[in-house]
Amino acid sequence: MEEFEVVNLETVRNAVNICTMCGFCKSVCPSFKAIGWDSALSRGRIVLTYGLLNGEIPADESVVENMYTCTTCADCERRCPSKVKIVDIVELCRADLVKNGHILPKHKAICENVLKYNNPFGEEKSVIETLGIEPKPAKVGYFAGCTATYRSTKTSAATISILKKLNVDFTTVDEICCGSVMQRIGWPEEDIVGMMRKNVDNIKSLGIETLVLSCAGCYRMFKKEYPKHLGELPFKVLHITEFLAEQELKLRPMTGVATYHDPCHLGRHCGVYDAPRAVIAKIPELQFKEMEFTRNLSHCCGGGGGVRSAFPEESGRIARTRVDEAEFADYIITTCPFCVNNLILGLGDRKDKKVVDLTELVDELL
Ligand code: SF4
Ligand code: SF4
Repeated sequence: MEEFEVVNLETVRNAVNICTMCGFCKSVCPSFKAIGWDSALSRGRIVLTYGLLNGEIPADESVVENMYTCTTCADCERRCPSKVKIVDIVELCRADLVKNGHILPKHKAICENVLKYNNPFGEEKSVIETLGIEPKPAKVGYFAGCTATYRSTKTSAATISILKKLNVDFTTVDEICCGSVMQRIGWPEEDIVGMMRKNVDNIKSLGIETLVLSCAGCYRMFKKEYPKHLGELPFKVLHITEFLAEQELKLRPMTGVATYHDPCHLGRHCGVYDAPRAVIAKIPELQFKEMEFTRNLSHCCGGGGGVRSAFPEESGRIARTRVDEAEFADYIITTCPFCVNNLILGLGDRKDKKVVDLTELVDELL
């Protein structure tokens, strides 16, 4: 059996042992629902981790697949009576897999792009060149993130447009990838911490007091992961919905029934549930109805944790389930470019509802 060097996983040896195999996680795990095997849910992933830790199983293709079909949604952590930190375990396991050379080709290309071009897409133009607004000293900074800059460009355009309409003295940031995608993949920490430092230094140099972000993945990084490595940040970190919830917005009315999908990285990971709902409540005449699984019980869209890029079929199945849960709604509003894109894919040819990014909607109605 090929040797597997355990490095990162050592820190969770005890955490792995507290799983009682009760199976409560089975009822919530989106990857289990899409795949159907016990190995594709938290309990199974813990068994695989235990096997790797003790040198009892090889790090073969099936181990890699089961570790990388976890969307890191953390719904199992909420459900687990033993409070097993499965997302940490999965991410540390991925880090050891990468360290031992087991990285999926799609993920390797993404990480190499970030190292070479500072974004996962291999785009040669910087964020600043792409957004076309030079940074300047200001109290509010907008960190657009790679996805909203290069792919979901309407989201970054809408955020900038809103900040202008509200007469906010803001600046763009000479940003590079926040490191989220590399951390989810399990790329070595030193590279990610180096990127964190560059971003924080650039933000600090502009005298920014409040950093506004429109991507749930970037937000989780700045809110939770950056402070773990760099200590308390010298600026406030707000998701665009938290920023907008505090503003007086005069929005045009809109008819129909809307619901809200909580992005896992914004909701369960960072506890932001009220702000997006407060912004939606500012839209006159719009009827709002919650889905059955909402706030901390929200089901994942399937777009996170690197699953979309490496396992699009499984990711699509998870998205279709979530869209079906909003059967009654004309609009599924959400506020993360990954969720927007994946839910649109989950919608397929359906014409009975639309998936809408909240920032884009606010800009349209403002
Ligand atoms: S709910 Fe927690 S303790 Fe129970 S099987 Fe799942 S991970 Fe293990
Ligand atoms: S984090 Fe989500 S996808 Fe991963 S094991 Fe837990 S419930 Fe399943």
